[in-house]
Amino acid sequence: MSKESCSGNCASCASNCEERKSESLFEPTGEFNDIKHIVAVVSGKGGVGKSAVTSTLAAELCRRGYKVGILDADITGPSIPKAFGITSRAMQNDTGILPAETKNGIKIISVNMMLSDLEQPVVWRGPVIAGLVKQFWQDVVWGDLDYLLIDCPPGTGDVPLTIFQTIRLDGIIMVTSPQDLVSLIVKKALNMAKMMNINIIGVIENMSYIVCPDCGKRINAFGESGTVYEDFSVKLLGKLPIDPDLAVMMDNGAVEHYESELLSEAVSEMESL
Ligand code: ADP
Repeated sequence: MSKESCSGNCASCASNCEERKSESLFEPTGEFNDIKHIVAVVSGKGGVGKSAVTSTLAAELCRRGYKVGILDADITGPSIPKAFGITSRAMQNDTGILPAETKNGIKIISVNMMLSDLEQPVVWRGPVIAGLVKQFWQDVVWGDLDYLLIDCPPGTGDVPLTIFQTIRLDGIIMVTSPQDLVSLIVKKALNMAKMMNINIIGVIENMSYIVCPDCGKRINAFGESGTVYEDFSVKLLGKLPIDPDLAVMMDNGAVEHYESELLSEAVSEMESL
């Protein structure tokens, strides 16, 4: 970055310049937490299924015997509590904020667990929202976790920037879908991760196709698969179909019971971190 365009505040900038390299903005999690791996699930564009992928990956990791948490950083569009059927409010004691636990023991924190009316919007400025995400990282009593998955909001704004800068991530999983418009925006998010030296574990193409229930034929509802992963030389971790069962289970709070062998490569990649 040129001297003229530098504001001197690394916390509000994604540039990976020489000045930044000498400064680490990583912040530790709370004293009661021991978190082995942290993976952010990211997408450039909203609605591609980032929360569905976060939820199903968490469920599969849990099924394999790992202790898992989900930090729902999508503050203005939180979907994780509903997907897992969590209706309880977040509690606090003198050790910090206590996450909710799903039936199988996945720990969850989300702004929706703090709102009295779930239909009221969170109308906060970016830095306030980013501050809450930091609080979820530092003040929530996660305890011992093998994996903390962070469901990032779409785009390349304040919250992904804060997460990439302040949380020592093992890497990100990028969720995309086969539309050109989505690829275009996902590329921005991939470029942001590259600029900030964040490990890109791989790409999951969601809503890749539909399987005809009568003849079993695959229909590419959104056109041919994208090549985002090739363009960025990152791994394709899987292609997930549009699956009405998944949509219903997300809506009914039963996503924990969703199983798909198509997630296994992504989960194995996370196991090898
Ligand atoms: P995002 O987090 O990217 O905004 P969501 O995960 O909330 O997107 O998904 C948007 C909607 O699409 C949700 O209703 C979800 O249940 C549904 N959905 C996501 N992925 C699939 C899929 N592969 N098959 C069917 N429905 C899906």
